Amino acid sequence: MQTTLAPEFQNTLAGQEAEAILRKCVHCGFCTATCPTYQLLGDELDGPRGRIYLIKQTLEGEAPTAKTQLHLDRCLTCRNCETTCPSGVQYGRLVDIGRSIVEKKVKRTRFEHLLRWALREGLTSPLFGYAMRLGQWARPVLPSLLKAKIPLLQESVRTKKIPLITSLQELIDLDGPSVQTTRFSRKVLLLAGCVQPAMAPNINKATANVLEAMGVQALYAEGAGCCGALSHHLNAQEAALAQMRRNIDAWWPLLQEGVEALVMTASGCGVSVKEYAHLLAHDKQYATKALDVSNATKDLSEWIIAQTNEIPKLKEKLMGDKVREQGLQAYHPPCTLQHGQQIKEGVQSLLTALGFDVAMATQESHLCCGSAGTYSVLNPSIANTLKERKLGHLLALKPKGILSANVGCISHLQSGASLPVRHWIEMIDSSLLKPSGLDCR
Ligand code: SF4
Ligand code: SF4
Repeated sequence: MQTTLAPEFQNTLAGQEAEAILRKCVHCGFCTATCPTYQLLGDELDGPRGRIYLIKQTLEGEAPTAKTQLHLDRCLTCRNCETTCPSGVQYGRLVDIGRSIVEKKVKRTRFEHLLRWALREGLTSPLFGYAMRLGQWARPVLPSLLKAKIPLLQESVRTKKIPLITSLQELIDLDGPSVQTTRFSRKVLLLAGCVQPAMAPNINKATANVLEAMGVQALYAEGAGCCGALSHHLNAQEAALAQMRRNIDAWWPLLQEGVEALVMTASGCGVSVKEYAHLLAHDKQYATKALDVSNATKDLSEWIIAQTNEIPKLKEKLMGDKVREQGLQAYHPPCTLQHGQQIKEGVQSLLTALGFDVAMATQESHLCCGSAGTYSVLNPSIANTLKERKLGHLLALKPKGILSANVGCISHLQSGASLPVRHWIEMIDSSLLKPSGLDCR
């Protein structure tokens, strides 16, 4: 698509990147057919091709309006359109650029500002955990809209404490050299994340148990926090970049010391960290380190599947009766995994190889569940319609439970389902035979 950048964008990195992306789009509209918002609203401007056109107009100098902003806001950033596009248009990057330009030119209402600020600051605040606890305690008397956003308090998975360190030397001081070299010769980093520890604390605990069964120690890096996706998608780019740099400062030294990988238990964080290299490519101080961090980042399923020799050993550590007890589980692949990271069936194959009975919905498994980060709060009507639609397809399988790979999707789907919705790693952990010496449950 030929684009003539307005002078204000001609010499900017964002303008040049957007122009290169737009050039690839041939306006065929294949993407429109698989776009969830187009399917629900039936308006060309609520589909990728229409949004691409709005962004092109803005880049060519036409003043965006509140309507432009509304159509861009309604996009889930699910990137389903990228999977469908035959020309390789990087819609996700383009919409990020378009949104950030429109944000500067179209004034939001005071309420919108306040809500976005509250989401950005509130969800990444250390106080979020306390607020969640309070909400869980008061849950029975909360109005249904609020109740749906607060997951039930989970019974805690017992595990060893995941060490929080700045250097591997601290581990030797903590555990002693013999434990380090014998039991934990392989090490990976996990990210605690911003909302996951409060909403679904068992995910990382279960991951640490499964990794331990594979002879790998899970670690946290002191100083790492929110991956930056939340701020980035709420158009607070500078705040997002600051969070990314802070994480690199925490992770990079440990990767240099020999930690194998940065293993992501939330696909929404994984896709974001894999983009650090691109987002910091022009930052002289951080570009190389960001590339190292992105290269070391693996989704949990991606990392386990790559350990081909360890998978049969992991299977031997599962209790057959516990595996059978799980029954049929319906798996929903999050958009950040199947479209953002292009990993679609890995989880299902892994779980099947381990002996579990898992199926994906036969219809619309490519469609977003409506969670999409803060989208379900900012656009509740579309988010809830997509949730009902997704649950309808998953429940048609008549499963005993639902599995996914991202805390946002899990809590969003759980708010509309009476069946348990879990991270798939929790199912593996609950079927694991724990050697008595290691059974800290
Ligand atoms: S499918 Fe790709 S090339 Fe076709 S309109 Fe959509 S983004 Fe453009
Ligand atoms: S990212 Fe998702 S919602 Fe947005 S235009 Fe693409 S398919 Fe539609």
